[in-house]
Amino acid sequence: LEEALRQSQKMEALGQLTGGVAHDFNNLLTAALANLHLMARHLPAEGQRFLAGTRTALDRAEKLTRQLLSFSRQDAVNLTVVDLGDSLRRMADLLERSVRADIALSWDIAAVPMPVAVDPVQLEMAVLNLVLNARDAMPGGGRIRIAASPGPEPRTARIAVSDTGAGMPPEVMARAFDPFFTTKGVGKGTGLGLSMVYGFARQSGGIAAIDSRPGDGTCVRIDLPLTDLRPPEPPPAPAAAAADLR
Ligand code: ADP
Repeated sequence: LEEALRQSQKMEALGQLTGGVAHDFNNLLTAALANLHLMARHLPAEGQRFLAGTRTALDRAEKLTRQLLSFSRQDAVNLTVVDLGDSLRRMADLLERSVRADIALSWDIAAVPMPVAVDPVQLEMAVLNLVLNARDAMPGGGRIRIAASPGPEPRTARIAVSDTGAGMPPEVMARAFDPFFTTKGVGKGTGLGLSMVYGFARQSGGIAAIDSRPGDGTCVRIDLPLTDLRPPEPPPAPAAAAADLR
């Protein structure tokens, strides 16, 4: 518990700091990219080459600040009641496309309703981050299992993404949730994937944890509280919606 408290205090402080910086930075980058776009129209062919390199760098910087913002934006979350199983099943295509052919994805989703109140975009990003990490841990191929089931605590659901990859030594596991901690090298990892997962779990009233041993693979799990509310009905037909607009 003390460890969890220490971690969430650290996250909060870092979240406030990075959120402020990322927000200003993002505005500056947007302006720079817009100017670059205009400049491209007036440059001769040989200048375009340099412009392309600059744009790639700025695009990467923008992606990084966006990740930073989503990690730090604890307040602006858009909590929605969704069924966990349905949400994960809808990600099947995206996840299949995100892994190489030498990696087998398997699914194990309990056939019971699991209503959770989450930001659906963050849920997708969290699961995608876990699958990409699992992929990166298996350069020679392997298996990834995506599971969702009622959790061990009453009224909870557990998402678990496990792999047959390299696993984590204790010193990596101790810091894996820390923002900017990465072992993937400059230009490859941002060190923000797992801190985003951690932030997602917290903002949904849950908790994230890692089980891993070098050589045995890794399992990252997210335990979320189930909500009593039901997922919303599908949106009304256009005619009914129009009638409300008097
Ligand atoms: P990044 O993926 O950009 O490095 P993350 O926060 O997602 O950032 O992960 C931090 C570090 O944790 C990774 O660099 C890696 O060393 C370790 N890690 C994360 N997921 C796994 C995994 N499934 N197997 C082994 N190591 C992992």
